[in-house]
Amino acid sequence: MRASTVNLLACPACRGDLLLRKRLAHRGEVLEGSLVCSRCGAEYEISNGIPRLLPSPARRRACLPVPQPMSSTRPLGPVSITQASSTRLM
Ligand SMILES: [Zn+2]
Repeated sequence: MRASTVNLLACPACRGDLLLRKRLAHRGEVLEGSLVCSRCGAEYEISNGIPRLLPSPARRRACLPVPQPMSSTRPLGPVSITQASSTRLM
């Protein structure tokens, strides 16, 4: 695969961006290496120039979505703080 192809790929588990780690490249083609998800940390092998983007059962545990309490549990947190600071006491 070409190194630029990584921009077109996404993690099959979480759709996160993939980072390319080359081990062997020739004329812009990555022959051996791996793709690492920047979001969930899953790693996918590149062998013979072909990225293996199939999540195996063994790797699925590493692909669990990372809990993000700030965005899910209190969506109105920052808004309410802003409103409280601008509330007039009169
Ligand atoms: Zn991922």
